[in-house]
Amino acid sequence: MPRKYDKVPVPEEGEKIKYDGKELLVPDEPIIPQIEGDGTGKDVSPVAKKVLKAAAEKTGRDIHWMDIHAGETANEIYGKHLPQDTLDAIREFRLALKGPLTTPVGGGYRSLNVAIRQILDLYACVRPVYYLEGVPSPMKNPEEMDMVVFRENTEDVYAGIEWARGTEEVEKVRNFLNEEMGTEIPEDAGIGIKPISESATKRLIRKAINYALENKDRFQYVTLTHKGNIMKYTEGSFRDWGYEVAEEEYGEDVITENTLWEEREGEIPEDTVVVNDRLADNMLQQLITRTTNYDILAMPNLNGDYLSDAAGGQIGGLGVAPGSNIGDGRGVFEPTHGSAPKYAGQDKVNPTAEILSGRIMLEYMGWDDTQQLVKDAVEKTIKDKTVTYDIYRSIDGGEKVKCSEFGELVIENMDSF
Ligand code: NAP
Repeated sequence: MPRKYDKVPVPEEGEKIKYDGKELLVPDEPIIPQIEGDGTGKDVSPVAKKVLKAAAEKTGRDIHWMDIHAGETANEIYGKHLPQDTLDAIREFRLALKGPLTTPVGGGYRSLNVAIRQILDLYACVRPVYYLEGVPSPMKNPEEMDMVVFRENTEDVYAGIEWARGTEEVEKVRNFLNEEMGTEIPEDAGIGIKPISESATKRLIRKAINYALENKDRFQYVTLTHKGNIMKYTEGSFRDWGYEVAEEEYGEDVITENTLWEEREGEIPEDTVVVNDRLADNMLQQLITRTTNYDILAMPNLNGDYLSDAAGGQIGGLGVAPGSNIGDGRGVFEPTHGSAPKYAGQDKVNPTAEILSGRIMLEYMGWDDTQQLVKDAVEKTIKDKTVTYDIYRSIDGGEKVKCSEFGELVIENMDSF
């Protein structure tokens, strides 16, 4: 039995998703919490919920959504932006779909998105980047893009360890570093710290390799993406620990690029995943020039921030870019875009990114036919050129539809598959 929540009802129907320490045990009618979000979250989230529920029903299942709150709505209901109920519900029911939340710049409260990821230890930010036919793209061959970015979510710059110029704290740190560690940091500097640990690196890279092995028919390479030439003991260690995982934990299922060339003349044995590495600056270029050579990219936080947006740009940008934050047996699935406040309440923006974030959730749940139906129906709707304003402005012809109309069309189009 689910526990009682202060201000949000638990659906009467449906069951909890469980976790056996290795994989999720998903009932046919799970209860899944959903955070609507701020701004345009109120436009896209109801549409995404409806589309995902329809796909579940059409494949013989159901989803019972449980509304939980964060951000401005939570503040109205609970008097705080991230209530305990919300964190407890995600812990108890294991997965959640989340709309975008507003983060005030320079002051106010810290990013709720970051807080949710850190408190629930959702250590891998996983962003599939693939092309949907019909989406305008700046590339000549956008269909070549089919990658999944695994970005470490808890360390590196996301640890948020920094001190402002001129404060007592920065003075202490600067004095220690200059006097005891031999550095020469100028008096007018702010200081930030970038921790990267073996444990956090290895669990991320295991997740990336496991994903590649589970999807061997589609993916062959896991590329460790780092700046180890410059930051040897953080980024360089990320690469070394990654190779250690590949060499020590997977037997013959995984080989490194060195072994591939030194012992096998570049021939990849059947059903084997290859782990290689690239410097992050080179990788940004390779994304564009050698797109088909890459599959799964695993990287520390800041590299992942840049790389996933750059890759997303190649296949059409924010309105269609989904994302997910996954830990062990737990995950929060959310679009990459923010709450775009200027469009809030206009039933105008594109719900595709949140719908496709839900698709990743369905994939994580093992509902393969359901996730495929969502993907196919979204793609057909865009290919038919019945699209929201953002896509409409960059294509010839077609019909501009509202956010909610787009959702209805996706549901109708499910009957074509
Ligand atoms: P944004 O909300 O992502 O919007 C930037 C622009 O992206 C929009 O003006 C729009 O471009 C386009 N866009 C965003 N969502 C779209 C959608 N669903 N459909 C079509 N186009 C879309 O970024 P922002 O204005 O910088 O940030 C607003 C707030 O969101 C901030 O408080 C920020 O901190 C927060 N944020 C939250 C998350 C999250 O919750 N995960 C992520 C990022 C930002 P055009 O105007 O050109 O059409």
